[in-house]
Amino acid sequence: AVGPWMMPHLRGRPCSIIRAPDGVGGEMFFQRHAGRGASSLIEQVKIRGDRQPYLQVDRIEALAALAQTAALELHPWNCRPGQPEVPGRLVFDLDPGPDVSFEAVVEAAREVRDRLEDLGLIGFCKTTGGKGLHVVTPLSPPKGRLDWAAAKAFAHEVCVRLAADSPSRYVTVMSKARRKGRIFLDYLRNDRTATAVGPLSARARDGATVSMPLTWSQ
Ligand code: ATP
Ligand code: MN
Repeated sequence: AVGPWMMPHLRGRPCSIIRAPDGVGGEMFFQRHAGRGASSLIEQVKIRGDRQPYLQVDRIEALAALAQTAALELHPWNCRPGQPEVPGRLVFDLDPGPDVSFEAVVEAAREVRDRLEDLGLIGFCKTTGGKGLHVVTPLSPPKGRLDWAAAKAFAHEVCVRLAADSPSRYVTVMSKARRKGRIFLDYLRNDRTATAVGPLSARARDGATVSMPLTWSQ
């Protein structure tokens, strides 16, 4: 039912999946490669530096085929459709540490949006279906060269400046110890082969939550 809404976010991008053949309580598999016996409804794409083709969801029927293999979560790359080597959008992944209220995460998402706006970029918000929020900004087709190193460096810089202005609220390093009471601004989704959960993907978690696109007033 959500296929037409979902498809523009998935089409043309390699897509990892999380499979839960024995249910959410059982063993789960994070899978990026097509593997043998994959349905022909699922696209297989060649990625530089890897002999094995990657999964890709280019049509609604592929969602049903994936469901048949107990794939619950869809995690696309953030490249331009059909161009794995070119960044197509940035994802700012806000990860609250312990003792951070969801209100604080919402406030952080707004702050990321405002920073992006100051830089001439538009930010969209979605839940992750987990504890945090994602702020996503589409990139227009690059006039010159745009590579993953540049995308990652840019996202890093945005996060570092935010953290420098509010060091008691944000961290940009992964170390668990520094995260207590703070929000980790994860810019690492913006890299070649990195993924983020796709809009409207279910999560293999208690309650079968969904990564839900929201308006800012929502
Ligand atoms: P939350 O709001 O709970 O943080 P999330 O989807 O942002 O939800 P993270 O743990 O922050 O979860 O992970 C960020 C992203 O890293 C995931 O959305 C996924 O695309 C990717 N990821 C998660 N697990 C793996 C894994 N085992 N291997 C590779 N990438 C993964
Ligand atoms: Mn996260």
